[in-house]
Amino acid sequence: MCGIFGYVGNNNAVPILKKGLKKLNYRGYDSWGFGLKIRDKIKIIKDVGDFERLEETPEIDSNLGISHTRWATMGEISKNNAHPHTNEDNGICVVHNGIIENFRELKEELLNKSHKFKSETDTEIICHLIEEYSEYEFPEAVRRAFLKLKGRNAVVALHKDFNGLVGVKNGSPLVVGIKNNSGKEEYFIASDHRAFIEETNKVIFLNDNELAVLEQNE
Ligand code: GLU
Repeated sequence: MCGIFGYVGNNNAVPILKKGLKKLNYRGYDSWGFGLKIRDKIKIIKDVGDFERLEETPEIDSNLGISHTRWATMGEISKNNAHPHTNEDNGICVVHNGIIENFRELKEELLNKSHKFKSETDTEIICHLIEEYSEYEFPEAVRRAFLKLKGRNAVVALHKDFNGLVGVKNGSPLVVGIKNNSGKEEYFIASDHRAFIEETNKVIFLNDNELAVLEQNE
């Protein structure tokens, strides 16, 4: 179980996510990655190994993104299995801590519905489950998908057409941080408040089965 860190605000997300991930370094990891919303597209940057190449991450103009350090539990250590994961059209992007205990049966169901997978992870199925609920608004689709998962999990999800992040947890930690800067708010979400504690003036520890929706200024 490794690290999640997400940001929603008015500043460039890349340096903020880099700094946050480095603070989660102490938990150990085998790979890392970013998912950044740029207008109506999601850009994924990920790699195996330590943070050396993290510094090479370009300063993409995005103020909404998620990042992850992975400790492989389902699927080998590889760039392909590193988080974030996306669905087929790359419109839904997910980072996850934990193990989905009913992953094999859920994957089987999704394969029968013609979903195509790009990794060996349990995490990737969350993107496809959310897609299954695409008739609902994004937070509701994430909620419905999360209810299908068994085990101790924390998930943060991003959608190319939704200007925010949705986080939900059960048995694995997830914490929201709020920074109020003369009326303008920035939001952080992480598996450990140490990732953002210096930046924020308010911290909310999510309870199990609580879902957080962090939108620009809301
Ligand atoms: N089970 C997921 C994987 O193996 C999440 C691992 C983690 O918590 O870092 O990719």
